[in-house]
Amino acid sequence: MASTQQPQGYGLTELPPEPRAVPGCSACLDICVRRKNSRSRGDHSAVSDANVKLRQHHAEAHNS
Ligand SMILES: [Zn+2]
Repeated sequence: MASTQQPQGYGLTELPPEPRAVPGCSACLDICVRRKNSRSRGDHSAVSDANVKLRQHHAEAHNS
């Protein structure tokens, strides 16, 4: 499954297309804080899970 290792400092030139928090939206902020915490402990599956949730939330709440 995970045969290739993710480099720790990826994204210097190629940032992954991560959804961002909409200013003033506490739901976005909540998901982003959890994503940040997950990334800081190296939990990549939780990071991508948060990205999925944030995209869904954007589609439902922010129409984007
Ligand atoms: Zn939001």
